[in-house]
Amino acid sequence: MKEGWEAVIGLEIHAQLSTESKIFCGCSTRFGDEPNSNTCPVCLGLPGALPVLNRRAVELGARAALALGLHVNEVSIFARKNYFYPDLPKGYQISQYDRPFSEKGLLEIVTAERDEGGQAREWRPMPVRITRLHLEEDAGKNVHEGLPAPRSPR
Ligand SMILES: [Zn+2]
Repeated sequence: MKEGWEAVIGLEIHAQLSTESKIFCGCSTRFGDEPNSNTCPVCLGLPGALPVLNRRAVELGARAALALGLHVNEVSIFARKNYFYPDLPKGYQISQYDRPFSEKGLLEIVTAERDEGGQAREWRPMPVRITRLHLEEDAGKNVHEGLPAPRSPR
């Protein structure tokens, strides 16, 4: 690494919570069903349909936050993130930005430098700061005719 410089790398990592229903409606999260069969006015974003937060998603999110040493905020806010993409037919995703579910965590990993032969040397702990953990709905899924069937993540 060049003298006087430090590499700072940010990652956005997504994890899927194992809920039976979607985060803002009662529709199933089951993979492999007929296209558009697990939908309702809420997840289609029809006028007048209001989302209701899935308690199980909050519980699982809190578990993840506590396991990663994050502070779980007493108040957090969901907002619409508007964008156009084929996996998002309603035109917005319900996500968090200004006041996330939890913040300021730390994950310690073990890492090492490699010698010229590629062997790991001098193992040492390295703290990885976690800026935030927030909850958001998963966007839709594009399925293309003629390609192999998608695999279930479970
Ligand atoms: Zn739905």
